[in-house]
Amino acid sequence: MYTAMSPNTFPYPVPREIEDHSKLGIFDHAAVHGMEDLHFKVDPASGLKAIIAIHSTRKGSALGGTRCLQYPSEHHALEDAMRLAKGMSYKSAYAGLPYGGGKAVLLRPEKIVDPDAYFECYGEFIDTFNGRFITAVDVGTKVSDMDIIVRKTKYVLSTSADSGDPSLHTALGVLNAIKAAIKVKLDRSDLEGTLVAIQGVGKVGLHLVRLLHENGAKLAISDIDQLAVQRCADEFGAIAIAPKKIIDFKCDVLSPCALGSIINDQTIHRIKAKIVCGAANNQLAEDVHGDILSQKNIFYVPDYVVNAGGLIHVIYGNSIETNQRIDAIYDSVCHIYQQSLTDKQPCHRVANKIAEQIVSGSRQVVAHM
Ligand code: NAD
Repeated sequence: MYTAMSPNTFPYPVPREIEDHSKLGIFDHAAVHGMEDLHFKVDPASGLKAIIAIHSTRKGSALGGTRCLQYPSEHHALEDAMRLAKGMSYKSAYAGLPYGGGKAVLLRPEKIVDPDAYFECYGEFIDTFNGRFITAVDVGTKVSDMDIIVRKTKYVLSTSADSGDPSLHTALGVLNAIKAAIKVKLDRSDLEGTLVAIQGVGKVGLHLVRLLHENGAKLAISDIDQLAVQRCADEFGAIAIAPKKIIDFKCDVLSPCALGSIINDQTIHRIKAKIVCGAANNQLAEDVHGDILSQKNIFYVPDYVVNAGGLIHVIYGNSIETNQRIDAIYDSVCHIYQQSLTDKQPCHRVANKIAEQIVSGSRQVVAHM
């Protein structure tokens, strides 16, 4: 179960499958997630313990952020790296990007004594891939960390000299996804008066609060950081909800923008929203939770479709191309919803099938693009 921890601590409820997978040997574990390969780096001098999981390079270099958190066990770190790497393949495929999927997980030590040594060592590790893996910021890393990594490898995006922080574009993508979801599910053409509950008002969540406020939505928010909550309440008139209660909040849209695996055995039957649509990666602890949402007539919008704006930003920066691709998230969400009605399949299964076909090469693009 989740308990409140520091922002640099792995905060997820433990999905059943982590327990199950812990019994597997490392090769079988990698095979469960369909990994191409796994890489490890240990450097006692700097304290670096890094995992790079490469899910697919079929469409191009594996592109994925670097997460730096304290994990309850090495097994949790490995599971996180592989699940996130697979998600990156799906995200890239669905957004029509010429990249594969990978992810780096750094097992954060109690204290990073010398950040320069730590991230330079990590940069040297990335450089050994010669471009087969490219990274960017993620939870627990900052643009300033990327600025250290780039001293040792050119295969890093989102440095301050490059595209920088992707959070605004991620939030713009989430906004488009929410607009599309309320159109197809609730037959509403604008957000005026729509009640959106946001879990987590960090980098993405705060931008999203502002964008939704500008679009006339009513807002409820929760965060374990009281200052962040107060800021949203003061600036945007958002209602503050206790972190443990946000899942239960009756609203039109629940927007998870904090944690992965937030839709799990403990929360699934408490959700009262009509739509779940947010930025957090891997919101479903297991696919079965998406099936249950569908049975409950809740539209779960697959996270990797919703939050592709950040990936688009690190590739195309502040450009017309970025704006066009983020606009296309609206059409993707409408398409998934319609296809799920046609196929009589839950939305996450419809989207996964399309993403898997693109990753495997049996399909070129998402139909509507
Ligand atoms: P962040 O760390 O800036 O913000 C997360 C916020 O969630 C923090 O304010 C934290 O205090 C809060 N939080 C943690 N536990 C909570 C809880 N139990 N209840 C309520 N709030 C809680 O991270 P971010 O960059 O805003 O990313 C948010 C999510 O979106 C992450 O899952 C990330 O993987 C995903 N994502 C982010 C981007 C991006 O561009 N930043 C892109 C794609 C996906």
